[in-house]
Amino acid sequence: MFLSKSDYMMAQNCIKALWLKKNRKDLTPEIDEATQRRFDIGNEVQDLAREFFLGGVMVPAENWDVINGSKITADLAKKNDILYEAFAKLDNGAFCRIDVLKRNGDGWDLIEIKSATNVKPEYIADLAFQKCVFDNAGYPVKQCWVLHINSDYVRKGPIDVKQLFQIEDVTDAVAEAYINTPAYAEQYMKIQTGKIEPEILIHKVCKDCPYYHYCGKDVPEYSVFDLLPQKDADVFYAETGKMEIKDVPASTCTTPKQLIDREAFLTNEVHVEPEEIKVWLDQLEYPLYYLDYETFQTAIPMFDGCTPYGQTPFQFSLHIQKEKGGALEHVSFLHKEQSDPRRALAECLIKNCGDKGSIIVYNESFEKSRNKELADLFPDLSDKLLAINERVVDLLVPFRNRYLYGPTQHSSASIKKTLPAFTDLSYADMEIHNGAEASTRYEAFIKGKMSDAEAQVLFDGLEKYCGQDTYAMVLLMDVLYKHAENNNK
Ligand code: SF4
Repeated sequence: MFLSKSDYMMAQNCIKALWLKKNRKDLTPEIDEATQRRFDIGNEVQDLAREFFLGGVMVPAENWDVINGSKITADLAKKNDILYEAFAKLDNGAFCRIDVLKRNGDGWDLIEIKSATNVKPEYIADLAFQKCVFDNAGYPVKQCWVLHINSDYVRKGPIDVKQLFQIEDVTDAVAEAYINTPAYAEQYMKIQTGKIEPEILIHKVCKDCPYYHYCGKDVPEYSVFDLLPQKDADVFYAETGKMEIKDVPASTCTTPKQLIDREAFLTNEVHVEPEEIKVWLDQLEYPLYYLDYETFQTAIPMFDGCTPYGQTPFQFSLHIQKEKGGALEHVSFLHKEQSDPRRALAECLIKNCGDKGSIIVYNESFEKSRNKELADLFPDLSDKLLAINERVVDLLVPFRNRYLYGPTQHSSASIKKTLPAFTDLSYADMEIHNGAEASTRYEAFIKGKMSDAEAQVLFDGLEKYCGQDTYAMVLLMDVLYKHAENNNK
């Protein structure tokens, strides 16, 4: 049985995941939108990063075609100094495909291309495995490198590949990790061919694993893993074997928030701190402007002034209420052209935000950061954008601080949890269900990957989704007023 680099890395996280991958193919989930997006970003970055090593030759073989790919690599390595996507394979089944194999004297350098903006610890283990395979397959490895994105890069004109990427020598760190690599590889080979599924306790980070649907099938919708921080939750479950909230004693909770969350769930009662709500409401100044942005992020900056993974706002929704309980006015902006949306968005925002009244957002750091970035980009609009930031009031605060908390929030203060906890409004029947979906689909549009008809469906969905985000804030504000007023009766 083969052991690929991704098998090795999977086993480094959890040996059960490797066993399931090899022995329970029926459990392998479909590739979801988020995973596909990660692949797409990786491919886009790889294609561009190869320009860092000009003159190389691509090894023409599919990923699954390991034996043929290894033979082709061996042939090409006889007369080329740089190979892209080079294969190496050992007789025991271990194999890998390095992004760039570059001749260095009488040996070779391994270069791993990553779409991240720094060297992560797992890249070292990844390269240690590759060094193990290449070394033993007849390609003595001299140095190991990680080529990653430079987060300080700011686009000005065409992409400058030498500035967009940074290369770091990780030879020493890989040499240290290498010491244990052959033993790990041997252990993983045995595990993947074993007849018995390894027993691994479920833990908090399992939620990110593709096999969570299988291992986590008995975890309640709201469990100790939601209530407690990672270490505390994992220790509690390991020691007691219990994960239901009713089995978590109050003495296990270490913060007032945890106690409130636990109590609200067990009693099925709303937790209210009316005085705190009232103090928070008293800071508001009408008219109120409920603001929400939608943004997209690309690894490779699309426009001048953009940075890698910078958030580019393309849409906002603004609900305006002149007086308490008064009628709502709605203004929206959605950039429907395949061009830089930021100037038009900033001008439209300034035009519609007036010069007094609170700007209500949900999680202020996001909207304020976008306004600050727009202010830096457009100095002539800077004063007005920064003045908007001065008026921002964060509606997340009363929910995050547990001034108001409903039993169904399950330890989350996200608007997707607070809204159904206190209103009948839901995102379930919408064309777009969350910000990540809005972002991914808009990115496809702006990169020209959508037909006109598809774009129109997208625009309709975006208008409804972003509009609902600000309308949801209006409803949640009403809920806060009601709870503050009930206390005064
Ligand atoms: S869900 Fe957890 S225990 Fe199961 S395979 Fe994934 S990481 Fe391992």
